[in-house]
Amino acid sequence: MPPIIGITATLKEDVDAVAERPLGRFVRADLDYVEGVAGAGGAPVVLPPAGDERAAEAVIQSLDGLLLSGGSDLDPHYYGEEPMPELGVTLPERDAFEMALVGLALRRGIPVFGICRGMQVLNVALGGTLYQDLPSQWERDLLKHRQDTPKWQPTHEVRVRDGSYIAEVMGRESVKVNSYHHQGVRALAEGLVVTGRSSDGVVEAVEAVDLSERWLLGVQWHAEAMRGAGPQQERLFEAHVSAAERHALRRAAA
Ligand code: MN
Repeated sequence: MPPIIGITATLKEDVDAVAERPLGRFVRADLDYVEGVAGAGGAPVVLPPAGDERAAEAVIQSLDGLLLSGGSDLDPHYYGEEPMPELGVTLPERDAFEMALVGLALRRGIPVFGICRGMQVLNVALGGTLYQDLPSQWERDLLKHRQDTPKWQPTHEVRVRDGSYIAEVMGRESVKVNSYHHQGVRALAEGLVVTGRSSDGVVEAVEAVDLSERWLLGVQWHAEAMRGAGPQQERLFEAHVSAAERHALRRAAA
């Protein structure tokens, strides 16, 4: 049986474009994540950002892997800061549900793959902090990390650390990626290592110190939107699904 991979979703106001009237709030997950997981041999399930800690616990029990998707800014109170003026939109329901999910996934040893916001959520859940807004807080020259071009277009380079897990998975030491973020990892959480940076020094990839002990991987770019650009991005999804499969087998044997 394919491992079940939970994909976190967001909430989105929808408007009837013709009548220009609000239709309400909808649960939304980009199909690219769903296809990325399915294409790698996993069984994707979309997780609406609703429910308390107990609901999150029930949900996590049904999962073999957790994929934290991209999206809105994380409320800085989760890393002990007040909001600065440049902070973007935050969604309290989503933040609360995802932070509960990650905490439970970490405790249960469920493989976690974080993309963009997802990498940031993973870092904060483990005790790290974020730049609320790179353009106003980064002290050196900064590349353009909020591209205006389509999501599948790579715009900046990422150098990955020699000998890291992600270098092994992608089979290369540098990769051109898309970039849709104004936040970034600031203080790295204990238990994670930085394995990829853009030329300005911004953290673009992290992984667990020992992936055989616990499988954690985060990328700051939208890998799900670049699956057509070459096999490297698809391999990230395959690595996550394989880790989830191993976790499911271990769990069944226990
Ligand atoms: Mn970037």
